[in-house]
Amino acid sequence: MEPNQRPVRLLVFGRQGAGKGTQAVRLAERYGVPHISTGDMLRAAVKEGTEFGRRAKEIMDAGQLVPDEVMLGVISERLAQDDAASGWLLDGFPRTLQQGKDLVALVGEDGIDLAVDLEVPEEVVVERISSRRVCSECGAIYSTAAPPSSPWTCDKCGGQVVQRDDDTEEAVRERLAIYAEQTLPAVAWFGDQGLLATVDGTGDVDDVTERLVAAIESRVG
Ligand code: ADP
Repeated sequence: MEPNQRPVRLLVFGRQGAGKGTQAVRLAERYGVPHISTGDMLRAAVKEGTEFGRRAKEIMDAGQLVPDEVMLGVISERLAQDDAASGWLLDGFPRTLQQGKDLVALVGEDGIDLAVDLEVPEEVVVERISSRRVCSECGAIYSTAAPPSSPWTCDKCGGQVVQRDDDTEEAVRERLAIYAEQTLPAVAWFGDQGLLATVDGTGDVDDVTERLVAAIESRVG
């Protein structure tokens, strides 16, 4: 662990296209904690072709949410693993008020250092999502404007870089509506608990990372 690293426990909120996944990977690296993305975990289950994966795929392709009690099982198993003993970064969980309350019940009131919320205007996110491409193996994120160096092979793992099945315009519209309806109440609730920092997610990717780090340092530094 680098000298400035300390085991933090962070949540990253942000609607689809806010840059949540990209920034989550960077922050997890910076703080030396596992990046726990429920979307990546669900997509891995889909690829494995398990019964659970098949059910999850139907829900995800429709842009809807996997039931809270199922997600609680997924996240509690993951947080019980050794690499998550002292710190973690959650990306995509909690996604409902119930999941937020479940998480606090699981890790305790002092078990979360900070939730950050990336704010980006609607017209920017729609454009970002339609150009988004992801590695089907490791989840690395690219775009039509910033493709891998050899199209469309992942620079990190050699996997195939594709458009996500749920990045169609219709599913995206559904996901944005569900975010407003289901996830914003969770974001507001973390605000009420005094655990939320809102960060401007527009502009250069590195600048956004620096803004996030500044918000985290002022809380946990
Ligand atoms: P996005 O934020 O762009 O929707 P994610 O990769 O975070 O992408 O999630 C993709 C899909 O996985 C969601 O639309 C949803 O169906 C499912 N999912 C991920 N996390 C959760 C969660 N915490 N609760 C319920 N469903 C989830």
